[in-house]
Amino acid sequence: MQTNDKKRRILIVGGGTAGWLTAAYLAKFLGLSERSHLEVTVLESPDIGVIGVGEGTFPTIRSTLQFLGIDERRFIRETSATFKQGIRFMDWAQASIGADHHQFFHPFEAPFYTEGSSLVPYWLLQDESGRLPFAQAVTIQDRVAAAQRAPKRAHEAAYAAPLSYAYHFDAVKLAKLLAERARELGVKHVEATLSGVSLDAAGAIAHISTLQRGNFEAELYIDCSGLRAELIGQMQGATFKSVRRQLFADRALTCKVAAEPSDRAMESCTVATAHEAGWTWEIGLNGARGIGCVYSSDHISDERAAQILRDYVGPGHADMAVRRIPFEAGYRERQWVKNCVAVGLSAGFLEPLESTGLVLIEAAVGMIAEMLPHSGPMDAPARRFNELMKARFDNIVNFLKLHYCLSDRPEPFWRDNAARATIPDRLADLLEQWKLRPPGRFDFMLDTETFAFFNYQYILYGMGFKTDLSAGRADFPQVAQAEQLFAKIKRFGDRALVDLPSHRALIQQINA
Ligand SMILES: Cc1cc2nc3c(=O)[nH]c(=O)nc-3n(C[C@H](O)[C@H](O)[C@H](O)COP(=O)(O)OP(=O)(O)OC[C@H]3O[C@@H](n4cnc5c(N)ncnc54)[C@H](O)[C@@H]3O)c2cc1C
Repeated sequence: MQTNDKKRRILIVGGGTAGWLTAAYLAKFLGLSERSHLEVTVLESPDIGVIGVGEGTFPTIRSTLQFLGIDERRFIRETSATFKQGIRFMDWAQASIGADHHQFFHPFEAPFYTEGSSLVPYWLLQDESGRLPFAQAVTIQDRVAAAQRAPKRAHEAAYAAPLSYAYHFDAVKLAKLLAERARELGVKHVEATLSGVSLDAAGAIAHISTLQRGNFEAELYIDCSGLRAELIGQMQGATFKSVRRQLFADRALTCKVAAEPSDRAMESCTVATAHEAGWTWEIGLNGARGIGCVYSSDHISDERAAQILRDYVGPGHADMAVRRIPFEAGYRERQWVKNCVAVGLSAGFLEPLESTGLVLIEAAVGMIAEMLPHSGPMDAPARRFNELMKARFDNIVNFLKLHYCLSDRPEPFWRDNAARATIPDRLADLLEQWKLRPPGRFDFMLDTETFAFFNYQYILYGMGFKTDLSAGRADFPQVAQAEQLFAKIKRFGDRALVDLPSHRALIQQINA
């Protein structure tokens, strides 16, 4: 970076969610409006659109939006947002038999803990035939979401609630809102299409060229150009690592249909329904349903996937517009090379399951903001960034694979997913250990995790995984206290169903 007497320029190529979120975050973090020697510019092509999908998020988005100074109600109104309390998984462990569906919930709320002790072993030791599903036994959020209640009441403070939550929103509208906020914070916006990248003798970017506005130079170039990876794709050593051998999905068909009549209840969770070679998502926005079919093209044809989507959407939508989005699960092994760092789809994408696109952007931009040196070489922060992002992607691969490899479904896609050769060694090692004890916090390196040990517990026990604690039953003597706590959670749940407003009512009130 240049010394203080020269301008420090950060050039972000791409005006999708990644570009504008990165711009707004850096502008806020670096105090751009009060620093005349700093310049943050977003270069966006007037001809290449944004991907426009990515409607489900993670609870971290609340602190990010709050940090950016975006009013929560305004955000909800302007992006057609709804509340998300987790994901309801249908037919993942077993295929449905007629109208009989296997289902489980992955809530955002952690299991209820008392000082230092966990209810999980006591749930594991209960009689399987009579016990409640795991998520229902250890948190109230499963019941709250099942009853289509909101996670908070109207008078509660912005971004705060008794229950953890995220949102569903219209991705195009979010990019627009972030762009507006970034400009308020002092970010410059240039409409031009990048046409070339010139490297210097050391392999760093010397300048970039555009079709409409000539050349641009900067001290740091941030590649937010989406799957095109216009900058990082030119950098030496930023090879793309495919994880297709572990995560088979490589295509998505997406569509939007008008929402149901306003008297019907509104889900406050994403619904993820497994099918013969992947899964479909359903996201209830304010006024629309976002639906997508994710699949492996090695296991079914595009025509079959389109049929699965049509069957899911139901009759009456014959003219709906469907987009097909191909992708390859994977990431760049080095996402920061010299003076170029990739954020968003240009850095990598695994698949839509568990909504990890935006949370990876938040993680990357948070690190860039803190690690970017005021002057001098960037090699050391780049190395650390690469190490942490690689670990983060690898950990997410493990977590996503867990959803697939534990299934008993009979179709080839699911049997291939359960084959040992397709399961990462680290995950296979953990699964062996979890046969005899539940996941715990020391299984994970906290700074590189997106999902905590309890997220693994929700998926494992939701999918019917067996952890056999019977040999250690004597080590868990506080059965009576545990039973009282389970009863207390149930009472809290009863109360919450009375106290919390319906999800639709709260969304309507915010939009009124
Ligand atoms: C099927 C699918 C489902 C997903 N679901 C989720 C989800 O539920 N939750 C989630 O968090 N994430 C999800 N994601 C990921 C999410 O969509 C992305 O992480 C997010 O939208 C960020 O995209 P982006 O900004 O990196 O790329 P894009 O939105 O593609 O933006 C790229 C930008 O770069 C610009 N650009 C490209 N080339 C040039 C050029 N030559 N010159 C100038 N500008 C250029 C374009 O104009 C555009 O502004 C999903 C992704 C897919 C594919």
